[in-house]
Amino acid sequence: MLQVRRHSQVTFLHSEVLDRIPRIVHAFSTRRGDRNDFTLGPPSSPNPIVQMNRARFVASIGAPGWPIIKLNQVHSGTVCDIDDTSAAGEAVEGDAAITALQGVILSIQTADCVPILVADSEARAVAAIHAGWRGTAAHIAETTVLRLMEKCGVDGKSLAVAVGPHIGVCCYEVGDDVVEAIGDAAVFERRPEWPKPHLNLAEANRRQLVRAGVPERQIEISSLCTRCREDLFFSYRREGKGAGRLLSVIGIAP
Ligand SMILES: [Zn+2]
Repeated sequence: MLQVRRHSQVTFLHSEVLDRIPRIVHAFSTRRGDRNDFTLGPPSSPNPIVQMNRARFVASIGAPGWPIIKLNQVHSGTVCDIDDTSAAGEAVEGDAAITALQGVILSIQTADCVPILVADSEARAVAAIHAGWRGTAAHIAETTVLRLMEKCGVDGKSLAVAVGPHIGVCCYEVGDDVVEAIGDAAVFERRPEWPKPHLNLAEANRRQLVRAGVPERQIEISSLCTRCREDLFFSYRREGKGAGRLLSVIGIAP
């Protein structure tokens, strides 16, 4: 289970499997700062409050002043290799990032989609993944883990993965297009009281991670639903386009 922590007036969630790895810095943000409007996105509109909140967030988790790599997330299966910090100034297009650099923060912005953070047991490399239904259908989690193994020379068995707060199967009603795109009946739930099937996005991604070689016991999945838990999270389904954004971050301390 993810643990709730509060530091410097900022509330965030921590994963036990990632906490066990020395030098890994990580967190999933919540909407709780001084009040309940601690938004960390979107990045498209330059917003001084968002910039300030981001700086406060990374400082509160022990990465003060580290460059933050932001992705221009487009619901794709594209994985970006971050080999230098020049990408910190501008958003790179893609939905996952991997790096072996130290003192750099990889970030994923969500408001219902699944944020996934990955590290190997020796803190040699990390990854951050944005998996909505389109990214999941494009196998982004599986592709990212395979790339991490190939590029950074880490063993799948040494990987620890935290799946952060996302829209739960309780609230994630989907249409036939999604059922068809995902193509695995086992990750949908149907109940008499639901007019349409519901997608279990975390389970779909868990299966990809296991298929890529991550041991099941090293995958930690948040059971908190972003749509149900208005007290903790922003939700696109609940609040629409104007919803604030949560930020999930990971990095390697120098
Ligand atoms: Zn829910």
